[in-house]
Amino acid sequence: MILRWTGERVTAKKTKDELKSARISAKHRAWAEALCEQAGERLTPPRLAAYAELAVQKRPLTAYELLACLEKRQDRKIAPLTAYRHLDFLMQVGLVHRLESNQSYLPCSHPDEPHESCYLVCRTCGSADELESQNVVSILNKTAKERGFETDRNIVELEGTCKDCIEKAAKSH
Ligand SMILES: [Zn+2]
Ligand SMILES: [Zn+2]
Repeated sequence: MILRWTGERVTAKKTKDELKSARISAKHRAWAEALCEQAGERLTPPRLAAYAELAVQKRPLTAYELLACLEKRQDRKIAPLTAYRHLDFLMQVGLVHRLESNQSYLPCSHPDEPHESCYLVCRTCGSADELESQNVVSILNKTAKERGFETDRNIVELEGTCKDCIEKAAKSH
């Protein structure tokens, strides 16, 4: 640890290795390393920490929720813009997706291959399930094309109640 005297107070300059991060699974780490390499980008500790935080959650996080988690874990203030930059980066390399319906972010469940996805979003617990939906997306695109419509973005999000929440509700009756 390097201690710097900066006038009034002593600041402990955190080195890369000291950055506290959520415990990431070997699978997620391997994906992160592979996709960054593929994109010719660096997987910096702050980027990895942001990804790890999303990967350990049971539900998608908004940018501000991610920011709060990172600040708590790293015990320091982080600029909101920084969280957005990490999210943009993670989306760009294909590690993270964004749900448009509630503006939250979730780790991709199969980033090792290119895909179009649709999501099952539970309104009760907030969880989101990513489904490979090549069929759904191609049917929608075909229909759009027949109407002379050119699609440039596919967003398919189904809202409702997940299996766990339905079972939980059934048990409590
Ligand atoms: Zn995905
Ligand atoms: Zn649920």
